[in-house]
Amino acid sequence: MIRLNSDAELVAVIKEGLKAKGGYCPCRMEKSEDTKCICREFREQMADPDFEGYCHCLLYYKEKEK
Ligand code: SF4
Repeated sequence: MIRLNSDAELVAVIKEGLKAKGGYCPCRMEKSEDTKCICREFREQMADPDFEGYCHCLLYYKEKEK
């Protein structure tokens, strides 16, 4: 399951950052298909059954399937 970080303030800051960058990852310099939210790194982590944790920016949290 994917959920937002439970820290609403942090979520608001990252969402502002995303808006300011036109939907690209606010935590990375590069603007490309790989860094468009949801970025390639987190897409791969979502597809990995063994991954549990936050995306690079801490916006999303992935819980392992039980
Ligand atoms: S999924 Fe997270 S790390 Fe990836 S672009 Fe979106 S906010 Fe950044």
